[in-house]
Amino acid sequence: MEVNRQVTLPREYELCETTGRIAAWDLVWEPNQPNPPHIFWDSDVAKWIEAASYSLATHPDSELSAQLDRLIAKIAAAQAPDGYLNTHYLAFEKHGLDRRFTNLRDTHELYCAGHLIEAAVAHYQATGQRTLLKTLGRYADYIGSVFGREEGQRRGYCGHEEIELALVKLYRVTHEQRYLQLAHYFVDERGRQPHYYDQEAMARGVDPRTYHFGGYEYMQAHCAVREQTVVTGHAVRAMYLFSAMADLAGEMDDESLLTACERLWRSVCEERMYLTGGIGPAASNEGFTAAYDLPDETAYAETCAAVGLVFWNHRLLQLTGEGRYADVMERALYNGTISGVSLDGRRFFYEKPLASNGHHHRQDWFDCACCPPNIARLIASVGGYFYSTREDGLWVHLYANGEAHLRVGSVEMELIQATNYPWDGTVGLTLQLAQPQTFTVYLRIPCWCESFTVEVNSAPVSNVTVHHGYAALSRRWQPDDRITLTLAMPVELVRANPAVRPMIGRAAIQRGPIVYCLEGADNPIAPLDRIALPEGHTALKPEYRADLLGGVTILRGSALALEEAGWEGRLYRAQADTYAPVEIVAVPYCVWDNREPGEMRVWLRSK
Ligand SMILES: [Zn+2]
Repeated sequence: MEVNRQVTLPREYELCETTGRIAAWDLVWEPNQPNPPHIFWDSDVAKWIEAASYSLATHPDSELSAQLDRLIAKIAAAQAPDGYLNTHYLAFEKHGLDRRFTNLRDTHELYCAGHLIEAAVAHYQATGQRTLLKTLGRYADYIGSVFGREEGQRRGYCGHEEIELALVKLYRVTHEQRYLQLAHYFVDERGRQPHYYDQEAMARGVDPRTYHFGGYEYMQAHCAVREQTVVTGHAVRAMYLFSAMADLAGEMDDESLLTACERLWRSVCEERMYLTGGIGPAASNEGFTAAYDLPDETAYAETCAAVGLVFWNHRLLQLTGEGRYADVMERALYNGTISGVSLDGRRFFYEKPLASNGHHHRQDWFDCACCPPNIARLIASVGGYFYSTREDGLWVHLYANGEAHLRVGSVEMELIQATNYPWDGTVGLTLQLAQPQTFTVYLRIPCWCESFTVEVNSAPVSNVTVHHGYAALSRRWQPDDRITLTLAMPVELVRANPAVRPMIGRAAIQRGPIVYCLEGADNPIAPLDRIALPEGHTALKPEYRADLLGGVTILRGSALALEEAGWEGRLYRAQADTYAPVEIVAVPYCVWDNREPGEMRVWLRSK
């Protein structure tokens, strides 16, 4: 969080500035100039505002605050008199080229609006200032006047979902039902016949059958959302849509949307999710393919998709209290998302393969720069994923050092976590209550943990029941009561379902929530695939290294290496392979590619 605040946020703003994303709001582009404001530039700036706002909420910073105010003034000044706000279309409109809302299928117009709304909500929550919230409220009202099922309205919805979940957030801060209704309309209308994208294409004079991606599975618009049983298409779009469906299921008591979410969750998390919490193996559609299609070296697994998986699972967790959602959230947080940024906070992964021949590296920025500000906003707001409360209960979903101010029932408390998690399975929780109070503390017992113990004020608690992945401790809590949870965290070799064909005969190394990999920097054996883990291997020992990769626990132990002798000048031979013992070092996948370039591999052959 500190690196994000001190390095990533200033760096991303600078890149938004040098690439024209900030100046685009001045609407001074001329048609004879190259580089018109790109259709998704607004979303990059919006995600930066959102990330910077979350940072302000925990770290007041007058300079950052003033920078946000200047940018917000620029955005507000760009708004059209009718409330419309999009730099790409407004730049063209200034020159009489009015094309707004003519291609919702392809141009991210409402997606950009959604990100601006999320930014406005975050800035308001962090600062109490309403400038951006009012601006985006006006834009949302304008959008609500254009789209819907009333006479004279268009029955459209965005090709890239995002505005749906944003409108739910806008509803939650403004309490204006119309925003919730508009979100519900966008979700509910999606994929219905006659198909809006067919009609819209024909209105543009384009044959809808020539659509680049073929069917509308690409953006989850091939049928109505409640009829979707298998996840399809672009992974980020799917996650944002499903997040909105979960939100609406809760806000509108719509059981059918929750049922659809649960079905789609099994399709994603039980058949199409990488061990790292990455999703979407294919580059062709930046998204999903067939069940169990999880190649490692060619995995697309976009950073934004893993971020979206966190959003969706957090929402399902809030609705149901089921630990399986927290398990996926934790898997993605510690592996699939955080690997998206370098330890120095300056470089970013877009695609996140689980094996590399040494040529895949983080980059400074991307033309399509969705991932850098997405990981920035997740990191800046990660504290929001740790706890949930109810009248009579406090849920602890994640473990890390920190302090939280919470209210359970009528009682305010400071909750202090002290732990070396994820390097160590012992977690201390101190409840600083103003007065004694009866409630239940639900401690998450992660799916990877086979055994645990709980103590309260150093006295062991026996017969702790675990329900839906949470150990429940009900009692009358006293000020400064201290809970100690100890989660067994052995090194484990994980296997994939044999339907994941490339992983047959392979294993990955995991300890606690951390997925490990081998890197060339520690293992001078090329290719790394020559290394095999002996079957039933448990000889890898954890070793905390404060000096390495920002302070991580590495795993060290013996394995086997395929011998190379006798191959000179030969491509094939009829002779058994031979192996020799070798020492290996595994490092957390999330910190790979922070040293000299080299090979990386998560799934290793087992022998
Ligand atoms: Zn992205």
